[in-house]
Amino acid sequence: IEGSADAFPCSPCASRRQKYAGDRKTEGRRTEFRQMNCEFVLDQILQEEQFHMCGIVGYVGRNEAAPILLEGLSRLEYRGYDSAGICVGEGVLEVAKAKGRLQNLIAKTDGGAKLPGTLGIGHTRWATHGEPNDINSHPHVSQNGKIAVVHNGIIENYLEIREFLQEKGVQFTSQTDSEVVAQLMEYCMGLPEVSTVSDAL
Ligand code: GLU
Repeated sequence: IEGSADAFPCSPCASRRQKYAGDRKTEGRRTEFRQMNCEFVLDQILQEEQFHMCGIVGYVGRNEAAPILLEGLSRLEYRGYDSAGICVGEGVLEVAKAKGRLQNLIAKTDGGAKLPGTLGIGHTRWATHGEPNDINSHPHVSQNGKIAVVHNGIIENYLEIREFLQEKGVQFTSQTDSEVVAQLMEYCMGLPEVSTVSDAL
């Protein structure tokens, strides 16, 4: 949030402006400001969220997926992001992620050549849960390595789901809210009454 402290109509917003500004993409801080219910700050948060929007791209076809995914992500760079990742494959899923510019991911994957396959998904991330780093970047893959997920937005009840799955013995690798989707899908696929991905969904 930019502007002078005077621009903030309620004193808690003014006094905490610096803290928020330095930590603007953490959901904890956003929740705190939302709870204050100050319209000015809520409006700022909304504007920021509209501008900072992750990018999602998918490909299935006859060509190599990775270079197409990387090209797709490059066209979504204008939305802003803090890290990027792709997952390619059928059966065995190969994942590559990199914090920072998309160029880092392109270099890491040799322009996509290191991830052969004709099916894949890609993501540019704006972190809300968990710091921007390689592990927290998307895609997130479930424990058995069979389900990969990219996600835009916030899963409000992710903690509840995470704790439920942890009690069942699921090991999480990231700090994100998004990983719960992949792990929950795997868990649901293992239930006796579930036989297809659509059932699990
Ligand atoms: N909440 C997710 C995360 O922090 C997704 C953020 C996004 O939309 O890029 O990873």
